Amino acid sequence: MNIESSDVFAGDDDGLQRLWTPHRMVYLNKADDRNGCAFCVAPERSDEDGLIVFRGEHAYVIVNLYPYNSGHLMVCPNRHVSTYDLATPEEVAEIGALTQKAMRVLTAVIGCAGFNLGMNQGEVAGAGIHEHLHQHIVPRWPNDSNFFPIIAKTKAMPRLLGEIRELLSQHWSVES
Ligand SMILES: [Zn+2]
Repeated sequence: MNIESSDVFAGDDDGLQRLWTPHRMVYLNKADDRNGCAFCVAPERSDEDGLIVFRGEHAYVIVNLYPYNSGHLMVCPNRHVSTYDLATPEEVAEIGALTQKAMRVLTAVIGCAGFNLGMNQGEVAGAGIHEHLHQHIVPRWPNDSNFFPIIAKTKAMPRLLGEIRELLSQHWSVES
């Protein structure tokens, strides 16, 4: 069994514990830090191990390891670029198109009622991995803010990340 630092996986660590069983490739070990950008490392893995839903020409779609909600995805340019203004027109166009597609697939697959979309630009703005641009796509349901984060710093996540990735990946090709 390989021990890998959570730092090399994609996502913004929110400091919350999880009630569900972590993804099989995730082994939290801060002492085993590896250099490298999580959003550059992820595409080098298999789709399953990198939690990648879809690979485009200039950008890809990945399941967030630290989801704010079930189905929390991110769209990242393949290129290691920090802020939106540095992205090329081709990257901007594909990030936009993949964001739209992700919304349609999520709506079809997990039946969410709305979304929060956004990019935190820079460490000061709350970006967990500020060196590599990423667009958050967070599905929302009515009354989805349960009481766990408030009382126990713990979120109840109803679906495993690997299961989510599998579902979304399968539906990516059938949604227009
Ligand atoms: Zn990177």
